[in-house]
Amino acid sequence: MFSKILIANRGEIACRVIKTAKRLGIGTVAVYSEADKDALHVEMADEAIAIGPAAAAESYLVIDKIIDACRKTGADAVHPGYGFLSENAAFARALDEARITFIGPPVNAIEAMGDKIESKKFANDAKVSTVPGYLGVIEDEKQAVEIANGIGYPVMIKASAGGGGKGMRVAFSADEVEEGFSRAKSEAASSFGDDRVFIEKFIVEPRHIEIQVLADKHGNAIHLGERECSIQRRNQKVIEEAPSPFLDEATRAEMGAQAIALAKAVGYYSAGTVEFIVDKDRNFYFLEMNTRLQVEHPVTELVTGFDHVEQMIKVAAAETLEPTQDSVKLKGWAIESRIYAEDPFRNFLPSTGRLVTYRPPQEGETDGLTIRNDTGVVEGSEISVYYDPMIAKLVTHAPTRNAAIDHMADALDQFAIDGIRHNIPFLAALMAHPRWRAGELTTGFIAEEYPDGFAGAHETPEILHRLAVIAAQMTGFMESRDSHIAGRMQPPSGEEGIGRYSVFVGGDRFEIDAEESEDGTLEVAMLDGDGEPLAVYRVISFWLPGERIWEGVIDSGHAAAQVRRANASFEITHRGVTKSISVLKPHVGDLLALMPEKEPPDTSRMLLCPMPGLLVSLSVSEGQEVKAGEALCIVEAMKMENILRAERDATVEKINAAPGDSLAVDAVIMEFA
Ligand code: ADP
Ligand code: ADP
Ligand code: MG
Repeated sequence: MFSKILIANRGEIACRVIKTAKRLGIGTVAVYSEADKDALHVEMADEAIAIGPAAAAESYLVIDKIIDACRKTGADAVHPGYGFLSENAAFARALDEARITFIGPPVNAIEAMGDKIESKKFANDAKVSTVPGYLGVIEDEKQAVEIANGIGYPVMIKASAGGGGKGMRVAFSADEVEEGFSRAKSEAASSFGDDRVFIEKFIVEPRHIEIQVLADKHGNAIHLGERECSIQRRNQKVIEEAPSPFLDEATRAEMGAQAIALAKAVGYYSAGTVEFIVDKDRNFYFLEMNTRLQVEHPVTELVTGFDHVEQMIKVAAAETLEPTQDSVKLKGWAIESRIYAEDPFRNFLPSTGRLVTYRPPQEGETDGLTIRNDTGVVEGSEISVYYDPMIAKLVTHAPTRNAAIDHMADALDQFAIDGIRHNIPFLAALMAHPRWRAGELTTGFIAEEYPDGFAGAHETPEILHRLAVIAAQMTGFMESRDSHIAGRMQPPSGEEGIGRYSVFVGGDRFEIDAEESEDGTLEVAMLDGDGEPLAVYRVISFWLPGERIWEGVIDSGHAAAQVRRANASFEITHRGVTKSISVLKPHVGDLLALMPEKEPPDTSRMLLCPMPGLLVSLSVSEGQEVKAGEALCIVEAMKMENILRAERDATVEKINAAPGDSLAVDAVIMEFA
């Protein structure tokens, strides 16, 4: 066994690998860029070596620096995590030459599977079912159209060297192939430094289902069942689960057998993932093999109980695979939500900054329900522009799919993040989505269900009621506490934080009657116009004023919500719905209902900065007339220059920022007459 492992990665996956190495009693070495000197993975490792500037191309991707760090620390093996150098054959070879063990597959497998055209040929030879298509490099538009006509539309044009959901486009006609082909080629050249593209059938209503394989250096190979990753945004995974709600035992066994056949055909060892696309009739086709630890491996760990990193380390140390195919039993259901620093309300624009609040839900198992949170940050960490915007992977496990979804919804409610924008409201909305709950998935789910982008979770009467109940509980608690403070006048008995209230949940008004029982449970009745109860909720909580997360029990189910006090009202987020809520005595409520509604400020005459960034230049000056579509200024964010344009014809009245200024979201850059 190794005495010391170097982890050639950062963020959550570096922390994840360190945890297992520690448990196995193996020393750990972290590497870090200048941007990561205070990062969690550096703190967790036994030793840490600086490897250069923030840009990955000058640090995490430099093979020589990683090998130097191994030499300096005496590390005898390297775990590459995912991304970065994990699928880089030159890296694996360089380690080999330096007599350091690569904790991953053999070089030839990385090479064979690293290229989509080559890997499909391999799969064909191994009798693995592949997407119908043309397995050669396509030279020009004419040939592309001929091939596409032969396959039948729609087709997908793909970069052979592509990855991470990039470098592919769908074409529905010969015209679209002709138009898309050269663009796909030039995009492939600029993104991957390799302009080879190929064409395959575009599978309609596809589901993405992948098989986890484990193999050792002695010819043993098993599969650990499947993961379904059909919830994707722009071909990138957002939610994953194991098992898949779509597979039957026969299809699972057949897919598993093909995945193992492919692994054996390339002489694979270590952990790897064979990705398939599955059509609505459960025909499945090989997409690609990822020759590394996959981002979403935790869901498989939770349903099988096998620590993938431990297996990878043992296989790399030439041990024989412990688990046998027969010992693999899928138990319960696991779901993973990827928590990203991106603003779902603004077309998922990345967000950077300091994590002013970062409080994940408590990890662990109670009553068969598990929460696991894989993360690489702590409160106060900085989310920078340099790396992947993934903050954490929140995973739940339960006996059934529904229970795992409910547990995820509850865990998301308990996850508090401030300081940057994040996608938790979007993930919460997905958990409540009836089509997701029914398991009727395709990779087009997000595009189909949110065609105009995301504007908040669907507001069901149930959620609005629960928001009212939570606000009532907090108000009741605070009032009864106030009434017990010495020196205060005692309210007439029977009014200690209970009674009739009007609860304003955003624009909706609910009348409630709340009564506290001996054990502290509050019974909240929602009343109709005649004062008759429509629904009754029983709620209990140990929330204390000032706490950011409200936790309690509503009708015997655990419930949580994010709360903030705003003057006399609360801002509460529950199940992805955020509302400003006031709990008032009915006569005060009547007065409030008479108040004219406050007009939101008119922002149509302003240019607001859509993202945090740097004002690079102004293209207009005060007093200038501009036409709709005309460039107004350039803002740089996440290393991209964004041209902001006039939405309509107008005259620039006032400019509030100068080139070089750092701008916050919604900063008013200029005003129009
Ligand atoms: P796939 O399963 O198709 O590889 P993933 O979402 O797992 O899709 O990963 C997409 C690509 O981006 C992979 O090459 C992966 O290694 C890389 N990647 C994903 N997330 C991160 C991350 N947080 N840091 C670095 N690389 C990442
Ligand atoms: P990457 O290396 O970028 O992960 P993949 O080949 O794994 O590329 O494809 C990523 C995603 O694109 C898949 O999960 C699927 O949603 C979609 N996709 C890829 N090929 C096809 C296809 N032939 N038909 C339909 N969807 C596809
Ligand atoms: Mg893929």
